Amino acid sequence: MADTLKIKINGIACEVEKGVTVLEAAHQSKIEIPTLCYLKKINEIGACRICMVEVSEGGRPKRLVASCVYPVTDGMEIFTNTEKVLQSRKRTLELILSTHDRKCLSCERSGNCELQKLAKDYKVDDEGYYDGEKEHYEIDETAAHMYRNNNKCVLCRRCVAACTANQYVGVIGANERGFKTHIGSNFDRGLGETSCVNCGQCIVMCPVGALCEKDDSDAVLTAIADPKKHVIVQTAPSVRAALGELFGYPIGTDVEGKMAAALRRIGFDKVFDTDFSADLTIMEEAAEFVERVTTGGVLPMFTSCSPGWVKFFEAYYPDWLDHLSTCKSPQQMFGAIAKSYYAEKNNIDKNDIVSVSIMPCTAKKFEQNRDDQDANGVSDVDIVLTTRELGKLIQRCGINFTELPDEDFDAPLGMSTGAGVIFGTSGGVMEAALRTAVETITGETLPKLEFTDVRPTTENTELEYTDVTGSIKEATYKVGDLEVKVAIVSGLSNAKKLIDDVRAGKRNYHFIEIMCCPGGCVNGGGQPHVSGNVRNFTNYRQKRASVLYKSDEAKTIRKSHENPAIKELYATYLEKPGSHKAHHLLHTTYVKRDKNPD
Ligand code: SF4
Ligand code: SF4
Ligand code: SF4
Repeated sequence: MADTLKIKINGIACEVEKGVTVLEAAHQSKIEIPTLCYLKKINEIGACRICMVEVSEGGRPKRLVASCVYPVTDGMEIFTNTEKVLQSRKRTLELILSTHDRKCLSCERSGNCELQKLAKDYKVDDEGYYDGEKEHYEIDETAAHMYRNNNKCVLCRRCVAACTANQYVGVIGANERGFKTHIGSNFDRGLGETSCVNCGQCIVMCPVGALCEKDDSDAVLTAIADPKKHVIVQTAPSVRAALGELFGYPIGTDVEGKMAAALRRIGFDKVFDTDFSADLTIMEEAAEFVERVTTGGVLPMFTSCSPGWVKFFEAYYPDWLDHLSTCKSPQQMFGAIAKSYYAEKNNIDKNDIVSVSIMPCTAKKFEQNRDDQDANGVSDVDIVLTTRELGKLIQRCGINFTELPDEDFDAPLGMSTGAGVIFGTSGGVMEAALRTAVETITGETLPKLEFTDVRPTTENTELEYTDVTGSIKEATYKVGDLEVKVAIVSGLSNAKKLIDDVRAGKRNYHFIEIMCCPGGCVNGGGQPHVSGNVRNFTNYRQKRASVLYKSDEAKTIRKSHENPAIKELYATYLEKPGSHKAHHLLHTTYVKRDKNPD
């Protein structure tokens, strides 16, 4: 066949697609070559040399090459596990570890560290083969959401690729040269002094324990131990789609019921669901959109539920802040309602409520402390944990997660619809908003609830990367007399290209959904790590997103405005979407930021 090449891998004949690398050819032939620095499309730099194999071409003698960047040629013979290959990988690991701060016992990543696994696989001696000189780096704890420990960095530059190629932000890179090379911000400023948007995409890409979120789980346990405190928890939609991975479940397993059961056993007084406030967000956001469309308001309107995206917009487009929806995110709406409506209904002093959220997102740790997120004179949300922190907390509490029965959320702030649950994937907010906005404008019941045009092209793994033409979804809907043009995009590099086109008049929309992380919250910076070898060859985001779409399909109520708990909230407390009270509790303001702070 013209489009295939005939090769041999470890003596076995096979055919592979033209244009693939040796690494990809081996994967197609069910052989996994280890990698450390390689990330498909965004970090193909052949730097770490872990993926070395021997190849022979045109009858020439075998030689070592980096398989991640070396193209396959017809007739090539590839050897992935000769003594020379295995020895090369072992020596490289020994060199990496010679300057490494080997404290696996207390390391956040112990157990899922890609370097630790390689060292074990290649039988690298604990004592160290090379006695390397070590630099000592101060740990950078200046950012709200994470710390950076360069003593554990292996200089793979995966974080740099995430921050620059996927997110456009580019606040980290290699500083100095040679032995003193290290990853940092310009002039080695703390990350918190840069225009980092707190997305955590560098953390999920890092193969080792050099980058980690700040762990706030001790504060949760302290609150639970205080008998005066009423400790409630909300869980974002995409947490249930990924938490199971930390307990051995395959990617794409829904563990909603076990998660609720585990939270109760940790000791929370009430186990609620951010899906409830996702429904509430839709009520407010759809009303805001309808108002803007019907009264000649500022358009296009951008969604505002992704705090990394909001911070990016504030820094890069400060002259366009009136295009952002004024709605708070579901996390913050939940907190504001918990400390007003819920507190009053249950006769609990708002000062005694500790509002905890479990999020797929590290930027939520920043959002919680923003100005104007304290509608009741106290913080809407007190403590934010990521999915990973929840996993560790469940383990620390000795809960046998896999054996737990499925349990439900508590009412009323645990009641939600299918529209709320799809918030966790790129396109979900738009689809949920359209379900409500279309019925509000037309006054008619939608014959079909699925707006598949705004769903991500889920079979396309390329979506993670930076090609805006491949990742933008757009659609036009006839809504009554109106033609509503919408677009969705995720990943800030993609967002930047889209917005620049819109500002230049090359694209024209009424409503745009933007999520900071590629693929949306299912791929948030607080979600479980996916190792390089899996990340490069599996569409894990699609598997997680499919959990949410299946959950939506299974719900009896799938439109936010039909959620009975939301209806009661408006009937007895908020009056109507966009009311004075709703505005006070559920909407916010933005600040102009400098994208190049001094
Ligand atoms: S980064 Fe990996 S190898 Fe290094 S101390 Fe942590 S677990 Fe061990
Ligand atoms: S959190 Fe996001 S913006 Fe900040 S350094 Fe990491 S990738 Fe860049
Ligand atoms: S911080 Fe992590 S991802 Fe970044 S270069 Fe170091 S090891 Fe690689």
